[in-house]
Amino acid sequence: MRLILLGPPGAGKGTQAKRLEERYRIAQISTGDMLRAEVKSGSELGAKAKAIMESGALVPDGIVTAMLAKRVQQPDCERGFILDGFPRTVPQAEALDVMLREQKMDLDHVVELAVDDGALVERIAGRFTCAKCGEGYHDSFKKPARAGVCDVCGSTEFTRRADDKAETVAARLDAYHRQTAPLLPFYKAQGKLKQVDGMAEMDEVTRQLAAILGTPGGS
Ligand code: ADP
Ligand code: ADP
Ligand code: ZN
Repeated sequence: MRLILLGPPGAGKGTQAKRLEERYRIAQISTGDMLRAEVKSGSELGAKAKAIMESGALVPDGIVTAMLAKRVQQPDCERGFILDGFPRTVPQAEALDVMLREQKMDLDHVVELAVDDGALVERIAGRFTCAKCGEGYHDSFKKPARAGVCDVCGSTEFTRRADDKAETVAARLDAYHRQTAPLLPFYKAQGKLKQVDGMAEMDEVTRQLAAILGTPGGS
């Protein structure tokens, strides 16, 4: 199964993609995570991406598309993948169509996580992550069971993204509305677009996604 999770920053794409990765045993591909890994590694690409990401703008299509083309050829993508944060522009979506056609792959679903802008600001401002295992948390909506200790790995170190500060969020939402939202009519025209209520609580969003995607292993 191959699918795209579409939605604004903070909509819950990463949260849901991790759950789907487990349920359907397919790879989560987050171009944001890949770019942050490049920044952390100090690569040339990372150096280029860093300032752009911190401003809240999108990294150039050519860079991200090349990165993705390599990623989908990794063995863990054979059973399928969930694209989380890609495509983000119409040229990226067109490049993806070409890529999939060349590799004789079909896209099964494009699902929009619909969330109001007002809720996004709160979601992004409260987001933090375990520094060791990457488990995602939220100050109000998903606190660790024991304060300051990761539920999954027991680590006591957490990180917050440099671009999750209030000043950058407006620029990211603006980039979403101007550059990414045109993908909704793009995939609607292909007859692939479905929508779930991203305002619902996490487990309910997962249920709505599962209803669209069907039983693991089933057709
Ligand atoms: P969020 O989960 O909040 O939507 P991401 O982690 O997906 O954010 O992306 C963080 C930043 O990385 C973006 O603001 C952008 O600068 C860059 N980025 C990630 N994916 C893409 C992409 N497909 N095209 C261009 N830039 C991207
Ligand atoms: P995205 O990958 O789309 O940027 P995330 O999955 O990182 O979004 O979610 C953003 C923040 O909101 C995280 O702190 C996450 O724990 C929280 N969150 C995710 N889904 C929901 C939800 N349905 N209700 C409330 N908070 C949520
Ligand atoms: Zn952890």
